[in-house]
Formats: sequence, C-alpha cells, structure tokens
Amino acid sequence: MNSTTLAYREAAHTNGYQYTSGTGYELPEYPFVPPPELHSGTTVRHPLVIAGGGITGLTMACALARLGVRAVLIDEDNTVGVKGASSRGICYTQKSLEIFERLGIYERIAAKGVQWSVGRTFAGADEVYSFDLRQQGSFHLSRQPPFINIQQFYIEGFLVERIQELGHVELRWKNRLVGFEQNEDCATLTVETPAGSYRIEAEHVIDATGSHSPLRQWLQVPFDSRRGDDRWCIADVRFSRHPPVERHTWIEAPFNENRAVWQHLMADDVWRIDYQMAPDSDPEVVSRESAVRERLARQFGPDAAVEIVWVGPYAYRSECVHAMRHGRVFLMGDSAKVVSPFGARGGNTGVADADNLAWKLAAVLRGKADASLLTSYNDERLEAAQQNVCVTNRTARFLRPADGAERLFRQAAIGLARQFPFARSLINTGRMAVANPYSHSSACTYAPGGGAGLSVQNVRFAWADGGHGCVNDLLDWAVGDLLVLVFGDVSAAALQRLRRLCFDSPVRSVQVLGPDAPAQVLEHVRDPQGHLQGACHVFGHAWALVRPDGYLAATGESVDSHLVSAIERSLGLRGDTP
Ligand SMILES: Cc1cc2nc3c(=O)[nH]c(=O)nc-3n(C[C@H](O)[C@H](O)[C@H](O)COP(=O)(O)OP(=O)(O)OC[C@H]3O[C@@H](n4cnc5c(N)ncnc54)[C@H](O)[C@@H]3O)c2cc1C
Repeated sequence: MNSTTLAYREAAHTNGYQYTSGTGYELPEYPFVPPPELHSGTTVRHPLVIAGGGITGLTMACALARLGVRAVLIDEDNTVGVKGASSRGICYTQKSLEIFERLGIYERIAAKGVQWSVGRTFAGADEVYSFDLRQQGSFHLSRQPPFINIQQFYIEGFLVERIQELGHVELRWKNRLVGFEQNEDCATLTVETPAGSYRIEAEHVIDATGSHSPLRQWLQVPFDSRRGDDRWCIADVRFSRHPPVERHTWIEAPFNENRAVWQHLMADDVWRIDYQMAPDSDPEVVSRESAVRERLARQFGPDAAVEIVWVGPYAYRSECVHAMRHGRVFLMGDSAKVVSPFGARGGNTGVADADNLAWKLAAVLRGKADASLLTSYNDERLEAAQQNVCVTNRTARFLRPADGAERLFRQAAIGLARQFPFARSLINTGRMAVANPYSHSSACTYAPGGGAGLSVQNVRFAWADGGHGCVNDLLDWAVGDLLVLVFGDVSAAALQRLRRLCFDSPVRSVQVLGPDAPAQVLEHVRDPQGHLQGACHVFGHAWALVRPDGYLAATGESVDSHLVSAIERSLGLRGDTP
C-alpha cells in the first residue's frame, strides 16, 4: 500500500453512527433495475457519468437534466440520505434555495421546511451575539429567504423525483463504482450490482461519492487534512413545549457542563439539539437514551415531554484537495472538501459546485463553449472550497480552542461581548454560508470596481406588462445561454451590435429600464426600485453579463469590444488574461 492510500485510510472517519437510537426516519427506496450493459455485454460510451447520488450528485444530475444533457448516475445505495442515520444537513442557504428554484424543487422545499433568519448566541444566561439575516445586506431582496431548515434527505428525494420528471438522466441504484481507469480516449468505470458487474465508458466523470471517495484514492489526489478531538451528539426530538423558531447556540451552556449546544427546528416539527461532548467521552455512553433524556431535562425542564426521533454522536474533520479536476474526473461536494458542520457549508457548497459545472459541461457538450472553459470550474470552486475550509476551521478553533492563547482569546472575547457591543463580532459560532465570490477565474473579466465573480441575487423586477418577474425567470428564458442585461437607453449602433452578438453567439439580451423610460427593444423589463441593478453591482448606464449559474462574468459601461471579449472569455474562447 502506498503512502497516499494509507493517509486516506487513517483519515477515514465514520460519523459514529454505530451508536444510534430512536425510531429514525423512513427513507424512500428506489428499485434496482438491471442496466442494459449486463445483458448486452457491450461497453457503452456515455458523455457523462456521475458517481454518487447524494445532494451534490443529484443536484448535478438535475441541473444537467434541466438543460437536456444526457447522463448516467450510479449510486451504491437505493435510497436518499444515509441509511440508519439522522439527516446530516439541515440548513440551506439563500443561494442554494435560488438554485433549487431554477431546478424546479424550491416550492416543495419551502412548503416542507422552516424559514428562519434570527440567530442568538448565549454564554451562560447572557446573550452575547444576535443577528437577523433579513436586516443584513440585501438578504431580504431575493425571492428566496435567507435560510430554510429541512432534513437533507427531503431535498435529495425531491431532486430524484424532479430528475425522473425531466428525463435525460438515468438513475442507477445499487450500482457501486469499484474500478476506474482513464486514458486519452475515455474513462472506463467498473460497476458492481446485485445482478453482476459491468463496465461503462465516459468522456467526463463526476466524482460525487462523498468524503470516502474511492476515486480520490485511485487517483491519489493530494489533499490537506485536519482533525481535532471535538465530539458532538445529535438529538433529533419532538417537544410538548416549543422553543422559538430561531437558531440558538450556547458557547457555554450551563445545562451541558459549560460546553456548546446548538438548537434548530427542522421539518416535521423535529428539533435538532446538538451537544458538544467532552473530548474523552465514550460515544456509546453519551448516545444512550437515558443520557440524552437527562441532558434534555436539564435544558428544557423535567416536565417537558420529549419524543426522541434519532440520536447519534459525531466528530468532524476538514479536508481540501489541491485540485478539483484530474483528467476526465471532476471532484465535487464532500469528495473535494470536507468541512465541519458549523455554518452549513458542506451540502450548500456541494450544490454550488454542481451548479457551477453543469452549465459549463452542457455548453461544451453542445459545442457552444470551448473545452477550456472547464478549467474555470477548478479556478472558482477550489477558491470557494478553500474559503469555506478556512472559515469553518476558525469556528472549530473557537468552539474547541487549544489550551493557551486560543482559550485565553475566547475567554476574553466572551467577557468583552457580555459588556460591549463592539466585541460581539469576535464571537464565532459559525459564520453562515453565503455565495462565494470568485476573484481569479479564467472565465471572468475583471475590471476595477466591476462585479465580475459575484453572485446575482434572485431579485424581483417588473415585466413589460407590469407583472412580477425575478432573475431566475430570465435565466430560465436563456436556457443555459449567457444573459446580457443592459441598463438604461442605448445608442442605435450599440443596439445593432447587441443584435449581432445574440445572433452569432449563445447570448440573450434584455434591456432594463426605469418606470417610465421608453423601451427600445421587445425584450425589456422594468426595475423601478433599482433592485436588479443593485443585484448586478452596477450603476447608471451599464451592462452586466450574467452566467446561467447566476454569477457575473463581467460588467461594463458601453456595448463595445470589451463586452465581446468578456463573452468570449466566459465561453473559454480566450486564453489571455484581461
Ligand atoms: C452533523 C452534520 C450536520 C450537517 N449540517 C449541514 C447543514 O446544515 N448544511 C449543509 O449544507 N451541510 C451540512 N452538513 C454537511 C453535508 O451533510 C455534506 O456536506 C453533504 O452530505 C455532502 O454531500 P455529497 O453529495 O457531496 O456527499 P454524500 O452525501 O456523502 O453522498 C455521497 C453519495 O455517493 C454514494 N457513493 C459512495 N461511494 C460510492 C461508490 N463507490 N459507488 C457509487 N456510489 C457511491 C453514496 O451512497 C452517497 O449517496 C452536515 C454534516 C453533518 C455530519
């Protein structure tokens, strides 16, 4: 065994689900259908194979299906979530919700999940930090709320049903990837099923097999890893008495021997209470129903009636690969990086990884973009992964500080925050995930003061007939092509140039006007309050080049060669740097 493989084995880390209790969750089961290759004996070549049907792989599959791209998804299991485990993810960010709206499952998530925006942090009996996300920045302008809490497996289940509805992607359950090789020509995957093994060829492979990714081991992908001794125990419970629908966290909870506690409401009226355990505690003991009930009684009082839905201990690590593409293989979700759960970055960034790559692969496969565009997946999502690892590691260090300077800093921060508002920002119980900016992508054209690499929120505007629309409607209309939003009136020559651009390249353009300005083109909308303009980070007469993933490729003022070269760059057609 070589050293890379050994390193992976050592880092491999179950979530400690062996000591679970509670009635658990009922997960859907999907049938195993013998794939055609088993009977035909022929090795079929597919443009795209997705390995892993967790939240990341399914988002990728759904995004491709929406764009009409054929793919095969294999998953070793026959359900969503993790069998016998609790829901891992619970909090979904505005950016993910915006993506899910485009994919057609947002309404179901909103109907099932719980919206929240207020978070409070306590040390003992004192509130030392609080926020209301609706009051922060422009969170309130999107059609989607700042956060929805819902068990991860519900989202995965909605994605499965949506993929089945859209077609194009074949879902193969109980198909385990057991072997892989790649060469100049294609990748070959060996897949094991209950009815025998088969081989399948692929031009592109998506590795969404999660934190124990076999592909990472076979490809010997270099990565950085960090693992501490912090231990937690999840208790998913129903109560006779309701805490407020807010995110409550205790850095020092008197009812948990002054260790941290998290409290959140999810769908089905189930509360997730996360208790930080002593590092040397025995997971089997802390997860016993009697121990859990004792902790809950200390927190909620002895007479609170509690139904235990699920209990399980967990530990976490952080990992980040050095590159998210290895030949024909694109790593995404937990197979590319693993972060601690503080701040809800794991699943949410997997969703963003998928949304980033799906439109690029679709554009390349349809001949609308150059294959070099795929390089920008690594530029952008590796930067995001590194940012997320950095933010969550800082939180992890705050919540389980090392003895010495780290612990002293934390004590000082808590002491100061009790007395002075300025010190509240030093309290770090998990900065909630936001859409990551891309600051050095080969597909973006940067200019001083420009918005390239920033996410555009799903804000509202008025259609020409006065009805309400939002950014996602325009992206839907562009069906995988780029969108040029031109703010204000334009010269006749510029209009001519725009028409030509839309004719020659995969671009659609829309004029954005104030309440009364006369429209110059049929495709126009009105932005009476300037929300669309604000979301595109531009002022006055300007244009914004919006990509299908709702990110800005470039912004500028006049419709000239700058816009043309920005379009070319965002399709991988220019290798030069702006
Ligand atoms: C306690 C806890 C709380 C969390 N809270 C949040 C939160 O609030 N918000 C958030 O965004 N994230 C959260 N996370 C993180 C989130 O759960 C993960 O980041 C997310 O599940 C990663 O999704 P994935 O699809 O990349 O991988 P996974 O969910 O691990 O999916 C991998 C899939 O690949 C399949 N597979 C594996 N090997 C093979 C193979 N050889 N062949 C075929 N298929 C294979 C598996 O069956 C599985 O379906 C939390 C995690 C934990 C542990």
